[in-house]
Amino acid sequence: MIKALIFDCDGVLVDTERDGHRVAFNQAFAAMSLDVTWDVPLYGELLKIAGGKERMRSYFDTVGWPVAVADRDGFIKELHRLKTDLFMKLIEGGQLPLRSGIRRIVDEAIAASVRLAVCSTSNERAVTAIVRTLLGPDRRRRFEIFAGDIVSKKKPDPEIYNLARERMNLAAPDCLVVEDSRNGLLAAKAAGMRCVITMSGYTACEDFSEADAVFPELGDPPGRFVTLRDLQEVPSRA
Ligand SMILES: [Mg+2]
Repeated sequence: MIKALIFDCDGVLVDTERDGHRVAFNQAFAAMSLDVTWDVPLYGELLKIAGGKERMRSYFDTVGWPVAVADRDGFIKELHRLKTDLFMKLIEGGQLPLRSGIRRIVDEAIAASVRLAVCSTSNERAVTAIVRTLLGPDRRRRFEIFAGDIVSKKKPDPEIYNLARERMNLAAPDCLVVEDSRNGLLAAKAAGMRCVITMSGYTACEDFSEADAVFPELGDPPGRFVTLRDLQEVPSRA
């Protein structure tokens, strides 16, 4: 039996890139009166460039910079500041949709006294806000959150999962991790934990061959859905 269910945040609890960062970039462009919209496929291409400022810079290098812009560095810096504020507003306003099945599986875990955690190397304030605003304060109290600068090495390094296991005083085989990306999968497996994948829009083409199970999503009735019991019975590949 698993003793703890550990979730990645971005792409697992919410589709943060598609529904959060992308939307906030578009709101920032609109706020600066720019005729720029990053749709879902375009943003998928832009995600190959790491870093929000670098992403915008590369985009304007390709399509051309607005004529009124004299100071490109200042312009990008201002856009990015605006985008970051708008992103936090989206999260804190509860405007990002939870992925299907998350609320249900969390409630199943609470009912079965399975412990809950989130392990993310994203910004701690954003991760905590996602859990609190989207799952509510009662469920939030059940979660241990390990996020942001709490570790020095990002996934695929297992540091965040090792830390969670130590702080929760659990053995690796007691933990089951839900991830959406190859980097997250490698981190969980390197920590000796079982790991299931719920595919997200921008990670669906990644290699998940080391995963103990792969699901399109946890899902909710009346459609197909994965129960806590299904997760308990996922055999370990290694
Ligand atoms: Mg992720």
